[in-house]
Amino acid sequence: MTSMPITGQCHCGAISFTALVDPSKVVICHCADCQQFSGAPFRAVLPTPAEQVQVSGQPKHYVKVAASGNRRAQAFCPECGTQLYATEADEPKVMNLRLGCVKERAHLAPTLQIWGQSAMPWLAQLQEQPMRGQGMASPWMAEPT
Ligand SMILES: [Zn+2]
Ligand SMILES: [Zn+2]
Repeated sequence: MTSMPITGQCHCGAISFTALVDPSKVVICHCADCQQFSGAPFRAVLPTPAEQVQVSGQPKHYVKVAASGNRRAQAFCPECGTQLYATEADEPKVMNLRLGCVKERAHLAPTLQIWGQSAMPWLAQLQEQPMRGQGMASPWMAEPT
């Protein structure tokens, strides 16, 4: 495995982490829970052995219990709400770092997509949509003519 040192932090900076990751392991998850937790159409995660991650600060954990009884701790910043990682609730072995709070994320391209059965059907059309370099003052603002 080629490993890469990364750093990450929440939006307010109360919680940060460093990790040694395998850049070939980035996964996009289209499951309904990832959509709901993240507030986004899908989530990207970087599975990393827990012993290769150092967290500073105190994340809050929300334990999600799956239909199978599997218990997953969803860690987030109690101040700003940034989602940081998920791991086994009882004995953390692998931490699924949330790619969105990793500083080096532009260099960590996903290599696999899972839960395609619940993927948004319009994702394939995104490349055809106009893309601005920056945002708009209001999403309802008229196009300049
Ligand atoms: Zn925060
Ligand atoms: Zn998921």
